[in-house]
Amino acid sequence: MSRTDPIRILSVDDHPVFREGLSTIITSQQDMALIAQAANALEAVTEFRRHRPDITLMDLRLPGTNGTDTLIAIRGEFPRARIIMLTTSDSDGEIQRAMRAGASGYILKSTPKNELLAVIRAVHGGKRHIPAEVAARIAEHLEPPEDWRRPDELGCTCRFCRELSTFLADPVRRTWALKSLQVNRSHVETEIRNCHCDVDTKTLRQGSPHSLFCTKNQASYERRARQRKKDLEHLSLFEEYCSQGRSPS
Ligand SMILES: [Zn+2]
Repeated sequence: MSRTDPIRILSVDDHPVFREGLSTIITSQQDMALIAQAANALEAVTEFRRHRPDITLMDLRLPGTNGTDTLIAIRGEFPRARIIMLTTSDSDGEIQRAMRAGASGYILKSTPKNELLAVIRAVHGGKRHIPAEVAARIAEHLEPPEDWRRPDELGCTCRFCRELSTFLADPVRRTWALKSLQVNRSHVETEIRNCHCDVDTKTLRQGSPHSLFCTKNQASYERRARQRKKDLEHLSLFEEYCSQGRSPS
């Protein structure tokens, strides 16, 4: 790409602050030019017709006609339009519909600036993109727990957290009750939450002091299994497109 031939970008988002941020990022790049912005579907279609951008960055959630339907409208007229969907959540069911409708990929709005720019260049170069998080999840080894040992990344080594560590490391025990003052129970509960221990907690309000009742479960495994299923569906859409060597229509 020469400097005289920048990637021409249309940005579609109903939040002015987000559009401004995007504008700052894009205009600071020598190989990119933000040629137009739109806040809704109608503006998006109008601006697309007027400018025929190389890349359109489209918010998945627009007021009224949403991003996917806007993509469908644009690609109905311009089947080669390269549109990257922007979303706040990679578990948004709408993503799948956008991918089916021919989106060139999607990125999370929380994506760091350099990755965002890399994705724009990659899609402009004819590639499709799924977020690194999704790719990483697909690559991750996923098996149901063979025993009840749980990962332990507790930073605290107080007496209560050491007890919790022992419980987490135990392959057989599924429950642990901490009968202690509220300040200690809250501390342990906070540690469990902050360190993402795969443990459910419940306060049993019997006796004095009360007890914090901790149960190991398969929730995180089941959650990851569900997410994996979704990720693989996304991936199969990509493989389908790539094997056809063309954009889906
Ligand atoms: Zn502690």
